[in-house]
Amino acid sequence: MSRVAVLRIGYRLVRDDRITTHVALVARAFGADSIYTVGSEENLIEKIRALNNRWGGDFQVELTDDWRDIIKQWKTAAGLVVHLTMYGMDIGAVEEIRLKNKDVLVVVGAEKVPRRLYGLADYNIAVGHQPHSEVSALAVFLDRYFKGKELGKEFQDAKMKILPSAGGKNVIQL
Ligand code: SAM
Repeated sequence: MSRVAVLRIGYRLVRDDRITTHVALVARAFGADSIYTVGSEENLIEKIRALNNRWGGDFQVELTDDWRDIIKQWKTAAGLVVHLTMYGMDIGAVEEIRLKNKDVLVVVGAEKVPRRLYGLADYNIAVGHQPHSEVSALAVFLDRYFKGKELGKEFQDAKMKILPSAGGKNVIQL
């Protein structure tokens, strides 16, 4: 099974601690295996470790100062680099990406991304051509990539599990 990782580049003080956490939560919940993040709060690793402990799975967080190096490593290992940007090709290209059956690094920005990222990426993909957010773009991309199956994924060694309920919270301890 090929691996999917997320690389979050750029960082704006104040706005971005919470958004970075949300990018990581979306990556985990929508089927990615790990996230590399630039300039993030130190305790993101701790937060995600606590979350894995409760809700299961082994989602990994790595802090990095050098996003170019992560892209280089990924390309050397023959993985695909997919940059999400409103200027890219229509999201329908996800079918071609999936068929390649390779590891995928999904890159999202925080603010205007460096121009050279467009050339480094194997694919520049737009989730619609209107500006929105790295959180929404990532969720939609991963959901299309995994064809919605990621939402039914069982997280290994979870201590808690939600039983779907029409009328309130139903959580069981495992
Ligand atoms: N004008 C910016 C741009 O270059 O896309 C929007 C920055 S937005 C606040 C932060 C990130 O959200 C972008 O770097 C991109 O990864 C993602 N994003 C926003 N809108 C998107 C869209 N329509 N399609 C794909 N990604 C999008």
